[in-house]
Amino acid sequence: MDYGLWTMDYRLYTSKSKIMITEQSLWEALETVMDPEIPTISMVDMGIITGIIMSTDQSKAFVEMTPTFSGCPAIKAMEQMVHDRLIEIGVKEVEVRTTFNKPWNSNLITERGRQHLKKHGLAPPPKHHGEITQELLENIECPFCGSKNVDMKTPFGPTLCRSLHYCNNCLQAFEQFKPVV
Ligand SMILES: [Zn+2]
Repeated sequence: MDYGLWTMDYRLYTSKSKIMITEQSLWEALETVMDPEIPTISMVDMGIITGIIMSTDQSKAFVEMTPTFSGCPAIKAMEQMVHDRLIEIGVKEVEVRTTFNKPWNSNLITERGRQHLKKHGLAPPPKHHGEITQELLENIECPFCGSKNVDMKTPFGPTLCRSLHYCNNCLQAFEQFKPVV
């Protein structure tokens, strides 16, 4: 992946020195760290980054994250990516902790994240109320034209968390990110 532009931006930003590193700027920096499973959406928009705390002397950042699946083999890599990104913008010490105390669920995907998924032809998971219902599974909207006149081709797409559909309106096949409660 090429984050050349972003890196350059941040280098300009940090080279002005004495600039305050706020928790807000840490969130913004992590908005450029993509989910390794779906490289079109950031870990922030995916709802994986659950908390960021900056020490009062601004020397240390503490980040908490909850990956989408506990068996996610990319966890170590994700921790490293988060760590490296914050070091890059000038934080001296970064601690990243992965926790599953509160499991990830698909409602945590931000509105911007949902738009990003759509832009890449991936239907975002419908918002749920804590349980998977038949209605929820049938509530699928084509990411290209917004039509709900869609058929499911297979409940299993290229990965377990996606299903394959066909839009009867714009005649395109698309994947949906399945809801997770
Ligand atoms: Zn369509």
